[in-house]
Amino acid sequence: PTGQTFDTALAQGRRAYELDRKHVFHSWSAQAKIDPMTIVAAQGSYVWDGEGNRLLDFSSQMVNTNIGHQHPKVVAAIAEQAATLCTIAPPHVNAARSEAARLIAERTPGDLNRVFFTNGGADAVEHAVRMARLHTGRYKVLSRYRSYHGGTDTAINLTGDPRRWPNDYGTSGAVHFDGPFLYRSAFHAFDEQQECQRALEHLDRLIAMEGPTTIAAIILESVPGTAGIMVPPAGYLAGVREICDRYGIVYIADEVMAGFGRTGEWFAVNHFDVTPDLITFAKGVNSGYVPLGGVAISEAIAATFADRPYPGGLTYSGHPLATAAAVATINAMEDEQIVQNAARIGADVLGPGLRDLAARHPSVGEVRGLGVFWAIELVADPATREPLAPYGGTSAAMNEVVGACKTNGLLPFVNFNRIHAAPPCTVGDDEVREGLAILDTALSVADRHVVH
Ligand code: PMP
Repeated sequence: PTGQTFDTALAQGRRAYELDRKHVFHSWSAQAKIDPMTIVAAQGSYVWDGEGNRLLDFSSQMVNTNIGHQHPKVVAAIAEQAATLCTIAPPHVNAARSEAARLIAERTPGDLNRVFFTNGGADAVEHAVRMARLHTGRYKVLSRYRSYHGGTDTAINLTGDPRRWPNDYGTSGAVHFDGPFLYRSAFHAFDEQQECQRALEHLDRLIAMEGPTTIAAIILESVPGTAGIMVPPAGYLAGVREICDRYGIVYIADEVMAGFGRTGEWFAVNHFDVTPDLITFAKGVNSGYVPLGGVAISEAIAATFADRPYPGGLTYSGHPLATAAAVATINAMEDEQIVQNAARIGADVLGPGLRDLAARHPSVGEVRGLGVFWAIELVADPATREPLAPYGGTSAAMNEVVGACKTNGLLPFVNFNRIHAAPPCTVGDDEVREGLAILDTALSVADRHVVH
């Protein structure tokens, strides 16, 4: 963007910042201690900040703009839907919702043929858990440490990261377990196979101690996102499926972040040939152009509510603007081979580029990921693996590294001691190379904080 429209956008951005600081209450923040970045425009893989600087968006915002910013087909579909029918109550059939449900059901594995739409990820988790509890008549739900499932009550209690700590009232039925994460193994394992086996034994033991007949569901991010993009070892998700089958536990795959192309497959479970009973999704389903999430439901669980009412709902379940955006997004991803692009970028450009950075920078403890979904784990000491910022916190060193990314034109997704490289699935080879070059510079800043 250039010229007068852009000047107007910058002026509006300055005004927006003033109003934001006076009137907007921000998520997860001490209101007086933040200096939020203004975004005035976005296109494809780029955003423009309040000073008019262009930044390569390796955050995909909240890892949701899988199709990139301002995709013309999605923008047009929203406008067209808005001109026809903006809102309709959920009991009524609406064309956009029916078509979105079909497109989603066709892409989920197994017989997850029915879709309940929500407004985002957290409420998808709330409803998946409710369905599992009603289906089994049980109450407890198991989830892993180092996970994120959303900011509402049940979802935050299931979350296995420090955001749960101030929100935990101890009455949720949530029980946490350690999942596989070889770099910081809870099981003292030496390789992925041992990590996988010990993680499954741990889960099995925990179920025995908690009482199998009290457990409604296991909820698991197929590839944990915010918690660090720990791609599970081969056999782990299949092992969880087997444990769930053995005890009559519902397997909920939380694919809010990992779904819809992010890992180079429509759903991350597809890499592992596993069919869960419920899949929660949001974000990439329509790239977040209009808020949307949902639960894909197996025939068996849907049948529980064939004669008995499902006791839950939302005013905007299957909102026409949101589902029209989903239809356009899924069709464009198919027509333009966007999921394939994410897989190729991960395998040929982003993955190898990050591994090269890891080999050259002592501050990089590990890089890991799939598709356009990668974490760079920064350490102050490669020998002890001491993180560059503490678990649940931040550090001056980490802030300096993130600052170096931004001044050089890269907007990363950041959590504790990790920088995530999560560009849109549409990202081009040259854009990835540009991002890798900026990361190279920023990692040199991190290297200065390495103790040895
Ligand atoms: N589950 C996962 C795996 C997520 O990554 C998120 C959001 N980052 C959520 C649930 C919650 O989604 P939302 O913020 O749309 O409520």
